Amino acid sequence: MKTINKLIMGPIPETGIGLYVHIPFCVRKCAYCDFLSFPCDAQGQETYVDALCREIRQLEQVPLRTLYIGGGTPSILSEALIGRICDTIRSTCRILPEAEWTIECNPATFDLAKARSWRAMGIDRVSMGVQSLNDRLLKRIGRIHSAEEARKGFRTLQEAGFTNISIDLMMGLPEQSMEDWMSTLREAVSWGPSHISCYSLIVEEGTPLYEEDEKGFLNLPDEETERAMYHETVKYLKEHGLPQYEISNFAKPGMESRHNTSYWERISYIGLGLGAASLMDEKRWREPMEMHKYLTGETPTIEEELTLEDQMKEIMLLGLRMNRGVSEYAFQKRFGVSMWDVFSKELAELQTCCLLETRDDRVFLTFKGRDLANQVFMRFV
Ligand code: SF4
Repeated sequence: MKTINKLIMGPIPETGIGLYVHIPFCVRKCAYCDFLSFPCDAQGQETYVDALCREIRQLEQVPLRTLYIGGGTPSILSEALIGRICDTIRSTCRILPEAEWTIECNPATFDLAKARSWRAMGIDRVSMGVQSLNDRLLKRIGRIHSAEEARKGFRTLQEAGFTNISIDLMMGLPEQSMEDWMSTLREAVSWGPSHISCYSLIVEEGTPLYEEDEKGFLNLPDEETERAMYHETVKYLKEHGLPQYEISNFAKPGMESRHNTSYWERISYIGLGLGAASLMDEKRWREPMEMHKYLTGETPTIEEELTLEDQMKEIMLLGLRMNRGVSEYAFQKRFGVSMWDVFSKELAELQTCCLLETRDDRVFLTFKGRDLANQVFMRFV
């Protein structure tokens, strides 16, 4: 028997925590992907969901403010399997009023009946991986779907009644021009999503794209073009009603992802499923990464015990990702000390370099600071 509940020390706040459920299955691997995901047959999926539900049942009466079924590609699971996961969460945990409940999906892995079933189960937000609306580029990065299937997927979600739909896009792809990127962005905005995430491609070791890069065949846009794509994105989305609220995230006002915002606010969360990570105040742990260990109920591994100083650094590192930054009052309330006392040198330096600003109670990055975010974050590591 697993011991998730033994890892949760102390009372869980009445304001609730986040729950992340990992579905590690995909139709096939994309050429850039180093996530914990792989193809799996129906029997294997069922066995996995059984193990997942056994874990969920340990979270008796845990108050949840956000729920997120991510992957992988959760939408390849049948309606019955997603239904089993949702029913188990509902009958075990205490889902708070106004809780946000997201599922990730990929085009060409769901139809109207499946999307309707998600709504019927209480899921109110969908995040769809689109990446590009250019068939040549989709093929280049090994996506399983076409641009037309992505369009159809979005219409299907709308038809199923979803009004909170986020789409993921990728810039800096091999052979992608500025016009390729802007044409994808323009079309995606024209669909009317409530939220868009735009990520720059990172060529991760061990992926097919990495091997191509090693051989010099990748033909990525140069750094200047890639930066220009990002700057144009921030400008274009602001002009079209989706202002930036985090380095890679843009939303209609009030439609920001509550689940991801919790990560940046360092609110506790529990991750269930293969390789899923959890954070409870001063402790971070991870589920087994190997399927046989997960299925036999091996206990998660504690990865980090965080000192108060570690936690303060994380609050800064994560909070400064958001345009609204970190509240001085909230910091003081949480740690009993001012952030200006703890990080006087770092904050002063960043201000001098015009990377950081303060207004009212908040400390946040300037446009330049967000552009050079990695340099900023290094100061808190
Ligand atoms: S769909 Fe997502 S998780 Fe699956 S292989 Fe592609 S990038 Fe990875």
